[in-house]
Amino acid sequence: MNERQKEPVNFIQKIINDDNESGKWGKRVHTRFPPEPNGYLHIGHAKSICLNFGLAKNNGGLCNLRFDDTNPLKEDDEYVQTIKEDVRWLGFDWEDRLYFASDYFQQLYDHAVSLIEKGLAYVCDLSSEEIRKTRGTLTVSGEESPYRERSIEKNLDLFSRMRVGEFPNGARTLRAKIDMSHSNLNMRDPVIYRILHASHHNTGNNWCIYPMYDWAHGLEDSIEKITHSICTLEFEDHRPLYDWYLDKLGVYHPQQIEFARLNLNYTVVSKRKLKRLVDEGIVDGWDDPRMPTISGMRRRGYTPRSIRNFAEDVGVTKRDTVVDIARLENLLREDLNKRAPRVMAVLDPLKVIITNYPKGQVEELDAINNPEDPQAGKRKITFSSEIYIERADFMEDPPKKFFRLGPGREVRLRYAYFITCNEVVKDNDGNVTAIFCSYDPETKGGSASDGRKVKGTLHWVSVEHAIDAEVRLYDRLFIKENPEEGGDFMENLNPHSLRSLPNAKLENSMKNAETDITYQFERQGYFKKENQKSMQAKIVYNRAVSLRDSWAKVVKQQK
Ligand code: ATP
Ligand code: MG
Repeated sequence: MNERQKEPVNFIQKIINDDNESGKWGKRVHTRFPPEPNGYLHIGHAKSICLNFGLAKNNGGLCNLRFDDTNPLKEDDEYVQTIKEDVRWLGFDWEDRLYFASDYFQQLYDHAVSLIEKGLAYVCDLSSEEIRKTRGTLTVSGEESPYRERSIEKNLDLFSRMRVGEFPNGARTLRAKIDMSHSNLNMRDPVIYRILHASHHNTGNNWCIYPMYDWAHGLEDSIEKITHSICTLEFEDHRPLYDWYLDKLGVYHPQQIEFARLNLNYTVVSKRKLKRLVDEGIVDGWDDPRMPTISGMRRRGYTPRSIRNFAEDVGVTKRDTVVDIARLENLLREDLNKRAPRVMAVLDPLKVIITNYPKGQVEELDAINNPEDPQAGKRKITFSSEIYIERADFMEDPPKKFFRLGPGREVRLRYAYFITCNEVVKDNDGNVTAIFCSYDPETKGGSASDGRKVKGTLHWVSVEHAIDAEVRLYDRLFIKENPEEGGDFMENLNPHSLRSLPNAKLENSMKNAETDITYQFERQGYFKKENQKSMQAKIVYNRAVSLRDSWAKVVKQQK
């Protein structure tokens, strides 16, 4: 429900409202978020987390965190740990309801035995290739397996021998006995168990048969007494099977509800594809700031609130769409604009020597932490006779519309003084290495006593007091709006997705900068400090997002 509790904000809430009215679940709402621990969570999962935990919260219900760990070949405890961290960071709490599908392996096995006993499942000796071939197509019925009519006794015997490890991988499967000519291919005697001699991150070598997703998932929901089992649209065609298993077993039966996956332009959201980027060294790990993973976004400087707002903003639909990544970036800006402390940092420094400012003199000037938030207060920044400005803020031969520094021109140094450029120093190759300026002592704080105006305001950092850092600027990881264009997303990588500025200078208040705060570097965007691997390691800041609003607008607001 929205804040006013009038209109249901999405079709799933509407279903919940109807269920509450009819008394279907006794007004209970119990959802779950069921990741497979085979990779890091991405923005699509964030959407699902916000939806499942959000519906539970808004309806006085509960949401479980359940690891769907039924495939030992791809799963790993590393993923379990990071997934837990990511869900918590997003702001959700599963309390004491952390579950693993693997904890239910015995129950799932017992249910399979009971399905065999009902004459509704059989052990099949066809290979996976043969099963695939005899499945038929949308227009052609499948062929019945020659093992389909095995007796219940024979099936029970073979299945128990599968379980104790008598047969090699792939030798046999347990299949549901449904209908080989069913119009829905998922109903053509689907596999329930396969033989896989592999060690599992949770159950070790206890099992050598593993349940298939469709079998496991519905039963997990059933065991946990889930009411609304929310999943993405690709499972719509699996719902008849979900229902069939639970109905035939006669067990508690949740309602499966499908919604459209979240897709973002310029982005891939599939663990399999993201894993390729990691494995092939395209990015620096799952948490590379360019990755759409929750951990990558955290490292880059996204706030949990901005991601939650995004999940809400895109809504819940039944139709697959591609959302513009700019929407996500705008919500991040909106959040950070209100909350991020503002500081000055020069990313690509050019030295300015103020010739009429007493050498060795130091002044502490007042700077406002966030004009959007009066509570944020002020801080002191240090001014001296040598400062850095942004190289791009100086032009030797500026056009008329360039309101920043050039020979003979006057600008304001933010929170400090007006300065005028008098002389340019160059090296033998003609590169500008420093500029000499004079300041007007009557302009302290940034306004002239004689009322004279300047158009440009520059950020700056005192040379002597600057903190050295490397700053990393990111661009989209793909050059195509649809990274799959042409068939292979690896062909559409943006070669300029990372730009490093190794000589950035930060104002001295940043010596106590925290790694869990995203700062605004005035005029440059929002930045977050990396966790330093050691005390000696270089200080690195990642840019989360650039500023949308221009400097001019910011300055105007402050006046
Ligand atoms: P991937 O395709 O990235 O591997 P998955 O669906 O296989 O994703 P799971 O770990 O099985 O990953 O997903 C956990 C939950 O997150 C599921 O309920 C799934 O439907 C949901 N989910 C995954 N991707 C998206 C997405 N892009 N948008 C919304 N929900 C998603
Ligand atoms: Mg999956």
